[in-house]
Amino acid sequence: MKAGIHPEYSKTTIRCACGATYEAGSTKKDVNVEICSSCHPFYTGKQKLVDTGGRVEKFNKRYGFKNED
Ligand SMILES: [Zn+2]
Repeated sequence: MKAGIHPEYSKTTIRCACGATYEAGSTKKDVNVEICSSCHPFYTGKQKLVDTGGRVEKFNKRYGFKNED
């Protein structure tokens, strides 16, 4: 391996807006992200579940279905 032809490779800290931090090897310096796997709605499932719940409720009301019995 020749010296001087490779970019400097060091540990990088990736910081998310939610407070989570990740360590990764990268040629870049510190990286800031607004969303990560621990706070993204797609991964937490919260957003999706809330939305789906509301839609099902509206649907049931409109067509007169009841969740009783
Ligand atoms: Zn996050």
